[in-house]
Amino acid sequence: MKKAIFPGSFDPFTLGHADIVERGLQLFDHIVIAVGYNEEKRGWIPIAERVRALREFYKDEPRISVEQYNTLTVDFAREQGTPFILRGVRSHKDYEYELQMAEINRELAPDIETVALFTTPELSSLSSSIVRELAHFCRDIRNWLPKGLTYNV
Ligand code: ADP
Repeated sequence: MKKAIFPGSFDPFTLGHADIVERGLQLFDHIVIAVGYNEEKRGWIPIAERVRALREFYKDEPRISVEQYNTLTVDFAREQGTPFILRGVRSHKDYEYELQMAEINRELAPDIETVALFTTPELSSLSSSIVRELAHFCRDIRNWLPKGLTYNV
């Protein structure tokens, strides 16, 4: 069985993330959405709530599971027994960042492969930080999240 972890902050999980998961399932039999801590990003939704909401959302999807992790991503991939890290790329800015992460991860763990999928063009401007900003100004964010995904915040 081919399995990958899809690591990220997912604060919140957007239509862009859901699209990467859905398309990733054409390549992998199982995807573990790995909700992690990002030093650079200030948290909005508590991590436990991000995990709870995603588990609830994907509860009828046996090919998708959701885990929290607090270690290096390559260590978490090993823990999950997979050599594949799935990521998404929206722009040249993402590309620079993803390349840097992939290079560092390769340095740390040459046996682990990063697989990146390019965004669906309609979703290329969508980011968790924009959704957080809209929420901060009390705008309805439901259009940017997968239908049925709800957070208790
Ligand atoms: P991180 O905090 O690790 O950057 P994010 O939660 O922001 O994690 O994103 C997780 C992954 O999803 C990253 O690879 C990011 O580039 C990708 N991603 C985020 N939004 C989109 C989108 N709209 N289209 C495609 N990929 C996306």
